[in-house]
Amino acid sequence: MSKPKTAITPTRSEDFPEWYQQVVKASDMAENSEVRGCMVIKPWGYGVWELIQRQLDRKFKETGHQNAYFPLLIPLSYLEKEAEHAEGFATECAVVTHHRLEAVKQEDGTTKMVPSGELTEPFVIRPTSETVIGSAFARWTQSYRDLPLLINQWANVMRWEMRPRLFLRTAEFLWQEGHTAHETKDEAIEETRLIHGVYEAFLRDYLAIPVIAGEKSEIERFPGADMTLTVEAMVQDKKAIQAGTSHFLGQNFSKAQDITFVGRDGNQQHAWTTSWGVSTRLIGTLIMAHSDDDGLVLPPRVATNQIVIVPVTPKEDTRDAVIDACHALAKTLRGKTWEGEPIRVHVDDRDLGGGVKKWEWVKKGVPLRVEIGPRDLESRKVCLQKRTDAANQKAFVEKEEFLQEVGNHLSEVQLGLLDRAIKFRDENLQEVDTLDQLEKNFSEKGAANWCLAPWAGTNEEEEALSKKHRISIRCFPVGELGEGPEKPCIVTGKPTTRRAVWARSY
Ligand code: AMP
Repeated sequence: MSKPKTAITPTRSEDFPEWYQQVVKASDMAENSEVRGCMVIKPWGYGVWELIQRQLDRKFKETGHQNAYFPLLIPLSYLEKEAEHAEGFATECAVVTHHRLEAVKQEDGTTKMVPSGELTEPFVIRPTSETVIGSAFARWTQSYRDLPLLINQWANVMRWEMRPRLFLRTAEFLWQEGHTAHETKDEAIEETRLIHGVYEAFLRDYLAIPVIAGEKSEIERFPGADMTLTVEAMVQDKKAIQAGTSHFLGQNFSKAQDITFVGRDGNQQHAWTTSWGVSTRLIGTLIMAHSDDDGLVLPPRVATNQIVIVPVTPKEDTRDAVIDACHALAKTLRGKTWEGEPIRVHVDDRDLGGGVKKWEWVKKGVPLRVEIGPRDLESRKVCLQKRTDAANQKAFVEKEEFLQEVGNHLSEVQLGLLDRAIKFRDENLQEVDTLDQLEKNFSEKGAANWCLAPWAGTNEEEEALSKKHRISIRCFPVGELGEGPEKPCIVTGKPTTRRAVWARSY
C-alpha cells in the first residue's frame, strides 16, 4: 500500500523533532530569529499566547493576586545574596557590562560600533526575578498587617540555553512569574499548592492536556527552593515536558534579602515566600500533545480563530452573494458566546483557490472550517469540517441547525482532544515493581513508557540511574497515583509508599 499523503513531512513516526519544527513553520506560529535561541512569535502563535494570558490572568486575580512590573536588569550583588540560586543560574546569564557605544572609524572608511563605558557593577538580564522582587518586598513589609503580598508579573526573561527549540526552550521567553510573601510557613505552602492546582486545571480545561502533577525530587528542584511542585505533560513521542512550576522558597530568599516584619507577638521575623511560573513553553507543549501529520491541532478554548469560513466562488455572478453570506454568518456567530467568550471567527475571502485555503487552515489547526458555495445559498446549508475528523470528511448541515449547535461542535473538539490525550497518557504510563522492569523499558528501542516505581533512593542513586538511561524523576505524583501500598524501593529495597514517575524529557 502506498503511504498516505500528509501535509507535513516528515511524519511524527518518521522523525518527531523534525515534524515539530515543520508544524511550527507550516502553522506560521513562529520562526527563529537572527539571534541564536531567540524567536519571532508571529500573530497566529501570539494569538494563542494572548488567550493563555487572558485566562490565567483571570484565575490569578480570582485567587487574590495583583499584577505589577519590575526592572529587566538585576544588579549582580542581588544575585550574590542567595548562593544556591546564583549558582543555579550562573551558566545561563546574559550580562550587561557597558553603558554606551562608541563609533570608531575604520581604515576602510566604515564605522564600527564598540561597547565602551564599562559599568562598575554589571547587570544581569533577569533569568527570573526572585531577587529584584524580593528587594521590593523587603521595602514593602514592616508589619504582619502588610502580608500576604500576592504579586504577579507578565514579562520576558533570558536564560542562555545551549540547545534551544522554538517555544519549548528559548533563550528569551515570555512568561508570568508570581511572587508572594506570607506570615507563616503553612500559608506559603498553601499558596504553592493553590497555584499548582490552578496550573493543573488550566492545562486540563483549556489546553486539553492531562498532566501528572507532583513534587520534584531534591536534585530537580528550583535553585534555592525548599519544595518545587510541577505539572508534567506527556507528548506524543512519550517524552515529558515540565509545563509549569510552583516553588515554596521557605525563608531562604527572605533571609538573603531581609524580608522581615514585626509579627503579632511584637517580634521581628522573616517572611515565607513562594514563586511560580508558566511560559511560552505551554505553546510548544500544546503543539506536541495534539498536532498530527497534517499540522497543528488547536483546542478551541485557545484557538486564535475557532471557526474559519471559506467562501466557495466558482462563478463570477454569484461571487458577491456568497461572500456576503459568509460575512453575515460570521457576524451572527460573533454575537454568540461559547464557554463565556464571544466566538472567534474569520472569513477567508482572499482571492485564492479553495484547496489552497483549506489546507492552510488545516495546517493552522482551526477547530471548525465552514464552506459556503452558491448551491448552499439556495439550500440554506453550510459544509462543516472538523479539524479532529479525517481531512476529507464533511457534513452538510442546515445553517440554522449549525448556529444552534455550534457550541456543541466546539465542545466536541475540545473534549475529544482531552479524552484522546488522557487515553494516550494512561496507556503509556506503566507501573513497575523492579529495577529490571524499569531498565528493560528504557533500554528498548523507540519511545519508552513512563514508569511509576516505588522509590526511597538517595540523590546519588537517583543521579546514577538518571545518567545511565538518560531519564529523570519527573515528579513524585500527588494524590492517588503517588501513594500506593508499601513496596520495596526499586534500588534500595527499602519499603516505601512513595512512587516516582521516571521518563525521558525535553
Ligand atoms: P522555573 O523558574 O525554572 O521554575 O521556570 C518556570 C517555567 O518556565 C518552567 O516550568 C518551564 O515551563 C518554563 N521554562 C523554563 N525555562 C524555559 C525556557 N528556556 N524556555 C521556555 N520556557 C521555559
